[in-house]
Amino acid sequence: MSRPVTLTLNAGSSSLKFSLYDISGEPAQLAAGLVENIGKAPRLKADLGEGEARVARELDAAQAADHHGALSTVLDLLRQTFPTARASVVGHRVVHGGPRFSSPMVVTDGVMAELRKLAPFAPIHQPHNLAGIAAAQAAFPEALQVACFDTAFHRHHPKANDVFALPREYYDKGIRRYGFHGLSYEYVSGELKRIAPLIHAGRVVVAHLGNGASMCAILDGRSVASTMGFTALDGLPMGTRCGQVDPGVIFYMVQQEGRTIDEVRDIFYNKSGLLGLSGISNDMRVLESAGVPEANEAIDYFVFRIRRELGGLAAALGGLDALVFCGGIGENSRKIRRRICDGLDWIGLELDHDRNDSNARVISTDFSRARIMVVPTNEELVIARAAQRLLAEGQAATA
Ligand code: AMP
Repeated sequence: MSRPVTLTLNAGSSSLKFSLYDISGEPAQLAAGLVENIGKAPRLKADLGEGEARVARELDAAQAADHHGALSTVLDLLRQTFPTARASVVGHRVVHGGPRFSSPMVVTDGVMAELRKLAPFAPIHQPHNLAGIAAAQAAFPEALQVACFDTAFHRHHPKANDVFALPREYYDKGIRRYGFHGLSYEYVSGELKRIAPLIHAGRVVVAHLGNGASMCAILDGRSVASTMGFTALDGLPMGTRCGQVDPGVIFYMVQQEGRTIDEVRDIFYNKSGLLGLSGISNDMRVLESAGVPEANEAIDYFVFRIRRELGGLAAALGGLDALVFCGGIGENSRKIRRRICDGLDWIGLELDHDRNDSNARVISTDFSRARIMVVPTNEELVIARAAQRLLAEGQAATA
């Protein structure tokens, strides 16, 4: 007998992350992992659930020369481990849904054509996301494919936060402030609704601090403003991305230094942020233990920008009821959380250092006017839930 499962895929430029869930009321995770370094020196890492060993092994280059190869390698592993599993639905993370897609969509030929048109908006990510969908369509021709967008959570933010002050025609051409990390914000907001409904109904700033980093102002569960804009380059400094810079810097690099646009893009996306400022690493753990001035300066800038954006986002909300941390840095680095929160009593935030040091879920004092929380994010679960919901709706419609 076959066992229906949900597969989620998150195809990056050189990686393919996957998770497998049992189709039940709330998706229950069976396995998760990734193939990294696709096309170069690929490596497979997977956690195959209870009783199964963790897998971590180098792959032959031919086993993951591209996303199709990486997916077949993953599927071979999953077939060996779960021989009766049959994917009924595959949920995909897609970075850009453009102005139109404000909720998860079943991937039809028409939707795929629309998503291809959006590739110029996210040239580093969108083509890989779509390659992941194509690979899954080939592998599971009978399964429903569902696209979940990082931009969707922000689609109803106010117009004032949707525009750039450019000539009006650019707005109509889709040059807008989209915002990203929406799957993460949706998960965290959903968790708040479950564990702290009064906070969820109020004014919340979520700081998603990982290798990619952004912050979002959320009012009663809806995005009001966020630090990322047209691309996932704006806002906070990240592992290798610069965050906000004066666009005049681009003109200078091109006109005065004679750089090509591709070189500038490479600098902004791959050589800046924590890596660029420190000259050492994009990895916060490495910088925290480096103990040299360049690493400290990179951390200083990261913290400074977060505190500055917090003020702006709280102003957009008209006050603050909670600051919530998530992402690899937000969930794990007590030092960074402490540096962000110390001295913020003026905005109502008072950190409890013991709670912070023990990585508690609520890390503010009992007297703090606004709450400080840590909520580990789970973007895959958001994708799996949406995929299963659309599968059930489709089944109900054809019943
Ligand atoms: P993510 O992209 O969400 O996986 O987050 C990756 C970032 O989280 C990297 O910069 C890691 O160094 C950072 N990180 C993970 N664990 C810790 C930790 N215990 N302390 C500081 N940074 C951490």
